[in-house]
Amino acid sequence: MEQPEGTRTYALIDARPRAIVIHCSDPRFQKAFDEFIREGLLLEEGEYIPLVISGGVASLSEPLKLPKEFKFMKERIELFLERYSELKRIVLINHEDCRHYEQLKSVLGRLFLQRVRSIGEKQTNDLKIVAKMLLGYAVPGLQIELYYARFCPGETHAVTFEKIPL
Ligand SMILES: [Zn+2]
Repeated sequence: MEQPEGTRTYALIDARPRAIVIHCSDPRFQKAFDEFIREGLLLEEGEYIPLVISGGVASLSEPLKLPKEFKFMKERIELFLERYSELKRIVLINHEDCRHYEQLKSVLGRLFLQRVRSIGEKQTNDLKIVAKMLLGYAVPGLQIELYYARFCPGETHAVTFEKIPL
């Protein structure tokens, strides 16, 4: 079908994703996430599937308390792994001052911070829990990387990405 004259078109790119990157949708952090993905993770557009959802991995870390969210996320990841055979890398990013985590804390109450002292500790724990769960998938050579975006000392307008050991 012919485009009416003057219609703006939008180009797609050839995508051969070899990674999934899961991070929070907090608008304050998107630019930092994008730059980190390109410069820190060395992934260009089309080379990764962004799975952007409030709270990042929070939805995957509580299969018993948040079963619907867990199922939704897990099925998406399984589908991507099935569809793209070159997908061998999953990057999980959590960030400081996450409002979704704050909200979960008020919804789930004391249960939410069982066995941890702070939300930050809960978030880095969650990264490791979700990594273990994902490594249980039968994908040979699947590599998981964990990062925590932390405010630079004394400010709330810049972050560094701290690598969290598995
Ligand atoms: Zn967040």
